[in-house]
Amino acid sequence: MKSILEFNREELKAELEKMGLKLFRSLQIFDWIYKKSIFDFKGMRNISKEDQDHLLRKFTVIDLTVAKEVRTDDGEIAKYLFKTGDDHFIETVLIKKDGALKNTLCVSSQIGCSLNCRFCATARIGLIRNLSVSEILSQVLLISREMSKSCEHISNIVFMGMGEPFLNYDPVLKALKILNDKEGYALGARHMTVSTAGLIEGIKRFMDEDHQFRLAVSLNSPLQHIRESIMPLAKRVTLETLIRALKQYQAKTKRRITFEYIMLNEVNMDEDHVLALSRLLKGFKYNLNIIRYNPSRDDHGWMPSVSEVSTFKQRLKKNNIHYNERLSKGDSIGAGCGQLGMERSKY
Ligand code: SF4
Repeated sequence: MKSILEFNREELKAELEKMGLKLFRSLQIFDWIYKKSIFDFKGMRNISKEDQDHLLRKFTVIDLTVAKEVRTDDGEIAKYLFKTGDDHFIETVLIKKDGALKNTLCVSSQIGCSLNCRFCATARIGLIRNLSVSEILSQVLLISREMSKSCEHISNIVFMGMGEPFLNYDPVLKALKILNDKEGYALGARHMTVSTAGLIEGIKRFMDEDHQFRLAVSLNSPLQHIRESIMPLAKRVTLETLIRALKQYQAKTKRRITFEYIMLNEVNMDEDHVLALSRLLKGFKYNLNIIRYNPSRDDHGWMPSVSEVSTFKQRLKKNNIHYNERLSKGDSIGAGCGQLGMERSKY
């Protein structure tokens, strides 16, 4: 049976019309699901019993079940293991900041990933399949319902979980638009970010979207030979091509781009990298997020020490490169950047 989450509001109206239901039911259904976290048609009290039965015969709502939930000791990071209807697993991470005033949800877009970045545990799974719109939305809705019990809500959503979002472009964009719909989840477009390893076609499509969703790029090195040694995609999409596309993106959208930079000891933290980074960032309106490598695949000795991170930060400062350091508090529960899917053998 199909999940009702697969439909945006317009599509749902058309679907209800085909079923002979009143069109205003689409607004009621959206309200129950996205605003009131009611995922059972029987709990939608302003819908007649007859219509509830009709909906029940035709649709499911949530497509995932929570298989496991783990939290860090301070409760700031939670990792959810979800099981899909065909018995696969995906992970989603909730990061609470500033006393839970800022709650960022890191969602997955694929089961596994085909891009094989060398610092990433998800890559080890390979690509199993893309997630559907309903599976993407189910991650958000299930966690949102749990948070609402303590009067908390999700303030930001980032597509930085398992998978390359632009290799599952249409479902990801449809989910974003439903989450942004004022009659749906009503989360501001600027509070939602899609992170890519550098898929040019995706970047070009994304810049033509009529929404203010944000773009992040997993950069990790401003030097072609190094980048392609840690991100195989970079052999096909060179830095030169990527930067050209990003310049076009920014010229058209005027939106700031976030560059993600995983600090890998003896790979991308030396003076040459910082100088090249300084040149690359010139002319961009950007945020640079630096993240310490979390051991995830093999131990390449890549995890930098505190003093190596400190030296790198000094180099950035000396070159007037502004950065935000993202602290990987989730590594104790395998929820750090690049660690999703690491414990797959234990599922
Ligand atoms: S870092 Fe992202 S794009 Fe690269 S292999 Fe992992 S999930 Fe895929």
